[in-house]
Amino acid sequence: MAERPPRAKSMPAPRRLLARVRDMMAGGGAAEKRLDRIAEIVAADLVAEVCSIYVRRAGDILELFATRGLKPSAVHNTRLRVGEGIIGDIAALARPFALADAQQHPNFAYRPETGEEAFHSMMGVPILRGGRVIGVMAVQNRTLRNYNDEEVESLQTVAMVLAELVAGGELIDPKELLPADGLASTPLRVEGLRLNGGIGIGEAVIHRPNFRIERLVAEDSDHEHERLRTAFSEMHGAIDDMMTSETMQDGGEHRDILETYSMIARDPGWLKRIEEAISAGLTAEAAVQRVLDDLRARMQKVSDPYLRERVHDFEDLAYRLLQHLLGEPAGVDLSGLKDGGILIAKSLGPAQLLDFDTTKLRGVVLEEGSPTAHVAIIARALNLPIVGRLRGITDRLSEGDPIIVDGDRGQVFLRPGDDVMQTFRDTALSQLEQRQHYDALIPLSSDTKDGDHVSLLINAGLMIDVEQMIRMNSDGIGLFRTEIQFMMQPELPSVEEQTVLYDNILKAAEGKPVTFRTLDVGSDKTLPYLETDDEENPSMGWRAIRIALDRPMLLRRQMRAMVRAARATKADISIMFPMVTEIAEFEVARGLLMREVESEGGGIEVKAGAMLEVPGILYQLDGLLQRVDFLSVGSNDLMQFMFATDRGNPRLSDRYDTLSPAALTMLRGIAEKCNAAGVPVTVCGEMAGQPLDAMALIGLGFRRLSMASPGIGPVKEMARSLDVGKLEAYMMPLLVSPEHSLRGKLRAFALDSGVAV
Ligand code: PEP
Ligand code: MG
Repeated sequence: MAERPPRAKSMPAPRRLLARVRDMMAGGGAAEKRLDRIAEIVAADLVAEVCSIYVRRAGDILELFATRGLKPSAVHNTRLRVGEGIIGDIAALARPFALADAQQHPNFAYRPETGEEAFHSMMGVPILRGGRVIGVMAVQNRTLRNYNDEEVESLQTVAMVLAELVAGGELIDPKELLPADGLASTPLRVEGLRLNGGIGIGEAVIHRPNFRIERLVAEDSDHEHERLRTAFSEMHGAIDDMMTSETMQDGGEHRDILETYSMIARDPGWLKRIEEAISAGLTAEAAVQRVLDDLRARMQKVSDPYLRERVHDFEDLAYRLLQHLLGEPAGVDLSGLKDGGILIAKSLGPAQLLDFDTTKLRGVVLEEGSPTAHVAIIARALNLPIVGRLRGITDRLSEGDPIIVDGDRGQVFLRPGDDVMQTFRDTALSQLEQRQHYDALIPLSSDTKDGDHVSLLINAGLMIDVEQMIRMNSDGIGLFRTEIQFMMQPELPSVEEQTVLYDNILKAAEGKPVTFRTLDVGSDKTLPYLETDDEENPSMGWRAIRIALDRPMLLRRQMRAMVRAARATKADISIMFPMVTEIAEFEVARGLLMREVESEGGGIEVKAGAMLEVPGILYQLDGLLQRVDFLSVGSNDLMQFMFATDRGNPRLSDRYDTLSPAALTMLRGIAEKCNAAGVPVTVCGEMAGQPLDAMALIGLGFRRLSMASPGIGPVKEMARSLDVGKLEAYMMPLLVSPEHSLRGKLRAFALDSGVAV
């Protein structure tokens, strides 16, 4: 075969390389020989002294199968574990590496049999197939070479074509490419991440978008561009249809999410990258797959779970696009879904979930997923138990296998025995009874036994929480975390968009009071469009009101939208500022708010409040009380700063107790001062939703508790069974105790006095 086909000369470099590799693949001959030739071609094209190809074998071993430039005797002798050395890292992380001096890399693993000591720079990419790493391809140079992005791209494109050869069955038995435990048939319990509570019992329905992309390299790029355009417009049409479908007609959060999703589908950057891959010589379908693989690999580096979840939205969209390009449905036959299905998927976009008849589904199990995933939010709206982060689960199941999803504990049982099945049937039944028990409390008041009213409010971030507030007949929204909406958008929402949002919330609240908290971003909550620095201590960094006061337009625009929504709905609203650390900050923020109220024409009542989350402000509490309309205790942050204990660090989560004498004394001081000044105070941190903690808060003098909606039933039951006078008499003397925690004593009091905690 001619080494360099004549027509290749006029092509751009990546397409030329790709065309040569394609010709080599199609050229016949033993697979190993073709692999050798590909290594040669790639080395020559990228002007590298070495090109090596490793294939993944059973037991997570990467074996050198071909090399140009390393010692030939190393072939089949050099073996690395996944995660060992840089080659192993590329496989473990499924992402490219480009290192000017690989030998200085902490994970460099020197293999004398290869003779690689002469080579300093290294660029390697994973060979991916069906989302699984099946090998690694790497080039090396003697000099300290800085490989550029285009070279990385080129190598990735070649790796994609190479994947077909590796998986073709000639080099190794394809069974070796399956995960180690293959298809098990024994009962198994696996732990994942709780994404939505509840118990689902049913049969596995495996969602495996399984597209066979047969043509990777394009003959006519213009034609491929045209195919892509057509597929894109068909896909947009289908998504628009979905938004107007019956399921979505009742509006709510799931509709908002689909709208965001549709915006992502129109993302010009995504389209551009696919077009570039086509211009580099791939077919439209291969280009879609290639951009998706690349995005997945890049996102592995990103730690923000919200952003990582957006990959799933893109995955969902990519599968849709492939469906339009290839004209075949993705994996499962949706119409055949039987009643009682548990959907098993690697990842799932919100629209994919809605493709199913969700009334027939009993639960969802995902290999990936985080609580911020759009699909988790949709599942919550549909009341489907969902467990995520169960890597490899799709390979451990067969279609129709019995399965239990225990969303409450974030675990899944595959092919459970009769005894486990029965236990869960009983649990599901008792959960239903418990729900009915709490539902029976809905029309009842949340007054204590000795007649004190305790206002129970909801912490919200989504429309669905507002709907819950109405359903639970609770007293309003005590904390609306506005940042959640901002985090769901790819760009800063305009004042008009924000106004619509707040307007919808106020309407859904049906006249019950709503307390909006202005943007509390920074720390773990990042916005893709807001530049922030890498901070050593982000929770004590540039966040919350600190950002708002440095970027006052952001704050003013948000408050303008709130004020407009309040005027339009004739609602009285409360606005509070997060992380207020000194009175002066509150004064500036309130000044900005009053300006917005005035410039919108006044005539509405907007209350301004502060969150108590930083211990420093407690030393100015008297002065603050003269200036605020209300206060809200963010006990999550207040405790983390009081105890100097990262609230997200699991090692420290049990170290100090919210019911310690110190914490309770601090809270007692806040309640006393607020009550004396006649300023309403709410506790809106997690402790307000825990019956025992909530009991202590009532004992300290708090009468307004704001919590996630599942806490309302249990806290109401506790309050109704509580004699506050008796609790006060018991608790106050204990505040000076030197004990680590009063939790045990308070629990004993509850038990002795018949308080339901
Ligand atoms: C808190 O800190 O207690 C609080 C309610 O705010 P967030 O949890 O949103 O930080
Ligand atoms: Mg907070």
